[in-house]
Amino acid sequence: LIVVVGAGIVGLVSAWTLQQAGYEVLVVARELGQSSRVPVALLNPVRGKRGSVAFEATEALQALWGFYPRWLEVHRGILRPVPQQLRSGWEAKLAKLGSINHSWNEEGLYLKDAAWLYTAPLLEGLAKQLSVQIALVKHIEPGKLLLEDSVLKAQCIVYAAGASGAHLAGLGGRFTPGSVLITRDHFAIAKSYGVYAAGNCLGGSYLPHQSQYVPHSIQPAEINWLQDQGQQLLGYRPQYSGTWSGVRYRLDQDYLKPTAYGAALTGFGSAAFFYAPLYAQKLLEYIQHAV
Ligand SMILES: Cc1cc2nc3c(=O)[nH]c(=O)nc-3n(C[C@H](O)[C@H](O)[C@H](O)COP(=O)(O)OP(=O)(O)OC[C@H]3O[C@@H](n4cnc5c(N)ncnc54)[C@H](O)[C@@H]3O)c2cc1C
Repeated sequence: LIVVVGAGIVGLVSAWTLQQAGYEVLVVARELGQSSRVPVALLNPVRGKRGSVAFEATEALQALWGFYPRWLEVHRGILRPVPQQLRSGWEAKLAKLGSINHSWNEEGLYLKDAAWLYTAPLLEGLAKQLSVQIALVKHIEPGKLLLEDSVLKAQCIVYAAGASGAHLAGLGGRFTPGSVLITRDHFAIAKSYGVYAAGNCLGGSYLPHQSQYVPHSIQPAEINWLQDQGQQLLGYRPQYSGTWSGVRYRLDQDYLKPTAYGAALTGFGSAAFFYAPLYAQKLLEYIQHAV
C-alpha cells in the first residue's frame, strides 16, 4: 500500500498516476485541497516579470497536455503584455531554449501552449476516482502514519501536503501569502504581468515571504493592490464579488525528495498545476526503481 498524504493537485495527480500503474493507493488528507483551491490556475512556462523560462518547461508542458484535457476543459493560451523595452531580453531567453511555442503581437508575448483552468472540477474529478480518507495526520515515520486516534501502516508514504502540512515534512522553504479577486467580468484569454486575469479571477501576491505557514486572509490593502495592478493589466479597475486567499510554498528545484518513509513531493511555489503531471511521472519512476 502506498499512502499519499495530501489531496491537493500534487497529491491527487500523483495518487492517480500511481494507481494507474497498478499500485494500491490511499490518499489521506484533512480536506480536499488547500492552496489548490485557488479558483483558477495558470499553467505558465514563462515566469514572473523577468520572463524566466521555467525549469523543465518543455517536459512539463508535454506532461500537462497529456493529462488535464481528459478531466476538464483546458483554456489554451496566455498573453504576457511585456513592456516594449523588455521584449528583446525576453525573446533572447526564449530563443535560447528554442522549444516554447510563442509569437509576439502589439500587446506582447502570446504563449500558445500555456493555459488556464478552473481547479474545482479537476480536484473533484480526481478525488472521485481515488480512495480518499479524510483525517488529520499528526506525524509521519517509516512504515506508519499517526492519525488523531489511530495508526495507519503503509509500505511507502508520499508527503504531498503542501504549505499547510509543511511541519510534517520539515523541509524548510518559503511561504508566500497571496489572494485572488473573484471578478464580475470573465477573461477568456488569460493575461499575466505582475498579476493574472483568467476566467473569473484576478490574482497575485506582493506580500513578503515567511519562514513558516500561517493561514492567510485578505486585507483591504491587498484588495487595493490587486485592483491597481488590474487597472494596469486590463486598462480598467475590475469589480469583484468575492475573494480567495492562500499560501504558496516554495522549495528549491528539488521538488521530489527521497525520505526515510518514501518520498516528499512539494514546494512548487506558484507552479504546482504546471508541474504536477510531470512530477507524478517522476515519482512513479522513483517508486518503481528505488522503493
Ligand atoms: C494567490 C495565489 C495564486 C496562485 N496561482 C497559481 C496558478 O496560477 N498556478 C499554479 O500552478 N499555482 C498557483 N498557486 C499555487 C498553488 O495554489 C499551490 O502551489 C498548489 O495548489 C499547491 O498544491 P499542493 O497539492 O502541494 O498543496 P495543497 O493544495 O495546499 O494541498 C495540501 C493538502 O494536504 C492536506 N494536509 C495538510 N496538512 C495535513 C495534515 N496534517 N493531515 C492531513 N492532511 C493534511 C490538505 O488538507 C490538502 O489536502 C497560487 C497560489 C496563490 C496563493
